[in-house]
Amino acid sequence: MDSTGDLADSRDPAFHDRMETLKRFRSADRGYWREVADSDWHSWRWQLQHRITTLKHLERLLPHLTPAERQGAELTSKKLAMAITPYFFNLINLNDEDCPIRRQVIPRVEETHTASWEVPDPCGEDSHSPVEGLVHRYPDRVLFLVTDRCAAYCRYCTRSRMVSNATGYDFHPRFDKQIEYIKQHPEVRDVLLSGGDPLLLSDRKLESLLSRLRDIPHLEFLRIGTRIPIFLPQRITPELCAMLRRYHPLFISVHANHPTELTVEVKEAMERLADAGVPLGNQSVLLQGINDDPAVMRALSHKLLMCRVKPYYVYQCDLIAGSSHLRSSVRRGLEVMESLRGHTTGYGVPQYVIDAPGGGGKVPVNPEYVLRRDNDRVLIRNFEGEVFEYPEDRNGIPQSIAGPSQKIEEPELV
Ligand code: SF4
Repeated sequence: MDSTGDLADSRDPAFHDRMETLKRFRSADRGYWREVADSDWHSWRWQLQHRITTLKHLERLLPHLTPAERQGAELTSKKLAMAITPYFFNLINLNDEDCPIRRQVIPRVEETHTASWEVPDPCGEDSHSPVEGLVHRYPDRVLFLVTDRCAAYCRYCTRSRMVSNATGYDFHPRFDKQIEYIKQHPEVRDVLLSGGDPLLLSDRKLESLLSRLRDIPHLEFLRIGTRIPIFLPQRITPELCAMLRRYHPLFISVHANHPTELTVEVKEAMERLADAGVPLGNQSVLLQGINDDPAVMRALSHKLLMCRVKPYYVYQCDLIAGSSHLRSSVRRGLEVMESLRGHTTGYGVPQYVIDAPGGGGKVPVNPEYVLRRDNDRVLIRNFEGEVFEYPEDRNGIPQSIAGPSQKIEEPELV
């Protein structure tokens, strides 16, 4: 795609119609669970108890499993486990083998194919872990892993080495030790609770953890990373929201990849969190054939904003063992980003990042908008591909009426 290619798409009625379809908020169908009492269906505990976790159960609900899916599901006791809430299962289009919801949660045999550059711990978390369950990679903040369990398991999970314990990682975080480490490190001002999914903890347990963290004077800021509002919006109860609002400033990062995931139920759950004063951001993973598409990503951004969620990051899929079949290219990621910047609300444009393999941290990657720096100007291009110049010398000194303060002979490409 060139820099104007997507603009043409935007003006194309077919592109517009596709966007409008993707942007519709629908209620999740009750599907196979029509007979279930409302009180059960809306109970997060009922949803967890009735997750699809075995091939036998999956085959009953999805009779036309592909051979690759059947083999994948057979292997989940040795790899990342399979679990799908009934609510989320009902977002799958049963007649579409390439359904973007299906591909995110139904295992495939390709998960057993490991490329030479793929590793179990692509972000080097274990090597930056001073105590079990705590990753101290950046100077002023830590990642606090609270559990290895999730409501459902994403087939591209960066922590597939540990979540669900299918590979015998045997994760046993000890909150006392993790909290003690933070107390001993006054430079830590920000804690991100993650896992697994922290919102799987009971309200009581989560509140106990939040209040112990809030008692640490140098902690300014708490965050929770969770996919529960997407997999299990029933968990976002008024009681949970009332508890969370006692621990501000508290931010929540959710994780939605495709506009279909943003249902009426999810929107209402996000609204409950936002009404409790929780700022919300979304982190997506760029996934091949799922959301590496300008219309899909733009519809996702628009729907997130309507749910009061800021699109925050789009991650290039980490080099996780067995994830090649889901990984899109950086080139495609840049094209998708280019189709957002300028073409839609700035609040709707997330930052595209690559988590540098081996533990280098997040590196922002952007389409190139600065074309060149000359002696007396910076050449830039806008979202429509038009080129402009901004007066500034190459040393970063703004031009004055007297002209450039210093001439540099050789033009330099950025
Ligand atoms: S919810 Fe998060 S931690 Fe759990 S499987 Fe998905 S990506 Fe991994």
